[in-house]
Amino acid sequence: MAEKKRFETEAIRTQIERTQFLEHSSPMYLTSSFVFEDAEDMRASFAEEKERNIYSRYSNPNSTEFIDKVCKMEGAEAGFAFASGMAAVYSTFAALLESGDHIVSSKSIFGSTHTLFTQFFPKWKIETSYFDVNEVETVEQLITPKTKILYVESPTNPGVDVLDLEVLGDIAKKHGLIFIIDNCFASPYLQQPIKFGADLVIHSGTKLMDGQGRVLAGITVGNHDLMDQIYRFARITGPALSPFNAWVLSKSLETLALRVDRHCSNALKLATYLEDHPKVEWVKYPFLKSHPKYEVAKKQMKAGGCVVAFEVKGGLEAGRKFFDKVQLLSLSANLGDSRSIITHPASTTHSKLTGEERQAVGISDGMVRVSVGLEHVDDIIADIAQALG
Ligand SMILES: *Cc1c(COP(=O)(O)O)cnc(C)c1O
Repeated sequence: MAEKKRFETEAIRTQIERTQFLEHSSPMYLTSSFVFEDAEDMRASFAEEKERNIYSRYSNPNSTEFIDKVCKMEGAEAGFAFASGMAAVYSTFAALLESGDHIVSSKSIFGSTHTLFTQFFPKWKIETSYFDVNEVETVEQLITPKTKILYVESPTNPGVDVLDLEVLGDIAKKHGLIFIIDNCFASPYLQQPIKFGADLVIHSGTKLMDGQGRVLAGITVGNHDLMDQIYRFARITGPALSPFNAWVLSKSLETLALRVDRHCSNALKLATYLEDHPKVEWVKYPFLKSHPKYEVAKKQMKAGGCVVAFEVKGGLEAGRKFFDKVQLLSLSANLGDSRSIITHPASTTHSKLTGEERQAVGISDGMVRVSVGLEHVDDIIADIAQALG
C-alpha cells in the first residue's frame, strides 16, 4: 500500500495498528491468548482461513511489529521471532533438515552454533563440513549430494574476518543450497545479505538490535516458503519471543541506525589509534585499509561494525595483564552494547580449544576483542591506552 521509506523511517514508523485509545507508542500485549467473536470465528482462525492472533506461542502483536521491522530492514518476505539467538539458529536448522542431510559451514562461527553442529546434530545423523574463512574457493569441494545448507557469519567472531557474500551466494545458487547467514555482527543496518543471495538471515537480537544489554532475543527472516516451514516447527516446539522483550526490541530498533553509526565511528577511531601503538602486534577491523578483505567489506557493508580485534605484544600473559588494568571497559561476554566490552578469547570463550585449534580459527593467545560502545571515544581510547602503558 504505502511506498517504501528509507531505513531510519521504517525503523520508527513500522507499527501495529492503533487501539481505540489512539496511543502514539505501541502498547505492550502481555497476554498469552486472544479471544474469538463466535464459534465460526474460532473455527476459521484455527483453520488458518484468516490471519489473526490465537495464542502467543504462535504470534503476538508485539512480536509481529518486531518481525515486520526486521523484514523491512533486511528486505525479507517473512520472519519469526525467538526467545534467543540460539533458539533462532537451532529452530531454523531443525525445521529444514532431515536425518542424513549435510551442512557446509564456515569454520569461524559462534561458539554455541559450533557446539550444536559438532555435539548435537550428529545424534540425528546431520553432519557438517567446514571451510576456512580465507579459502572461500574450497567451498565447492565440500558440497555433496546430501548438502542442503550453506551457512556463514560475516564479520566473524572474534576475529572479524569478512567473507564475500556475493561469491557464496552464487555457489549456493549453482548447487541449489539454502544459503543462511547469521548477520548479528553487522546488524541489518550495515549489511543486508538477501541482496547477495541469502535465503534466510538470522540475528541474535541480544546484541546490536537491543544494543543496551537488557534482553535476550533472536529472529530469522527471509524466503516465504522456508519461513513457513520454520513457523510450523516453532509454533509447535515453543521457542517464541516474549511480548515484553519484543516490545523492548521494537523500541530499540527505532534508534538502531543512530547507535550503529556511532558504534562504527568510535570503533574506527579506536582501530586507527591502535594501528600505530608500539605495544600492539596487529589490529583487525573490517574498515581499516590493512584488513585483508577491506575491499569485500566496502562492497557489502555500510561501515565496519562495533568489534575491533587486536593482539597485545607478549602473548597470553601480556593479554591477561592488560585485562587486569582496564578500568572503564567491562569484562563481559556480550557485544553490541552501549557500554564498551572487552574479552580475551584464548582464556575464556575459546579456552577449551587447543592452541592449534585456536590458530585454525584465527585466535592468537594475546588477542583481545573489543566491542566498542557509545561512551565518548576519547574515554574509551584513554582507558585502553593506560592499560597498555
Ligand atoms: C550471541 C550470538 C548468537 C547467539 O545469540 P543469543 O541471543 O545469545 O542466543 C548467535 N550468533 C552470533 C554471531 C552471536 O554473536
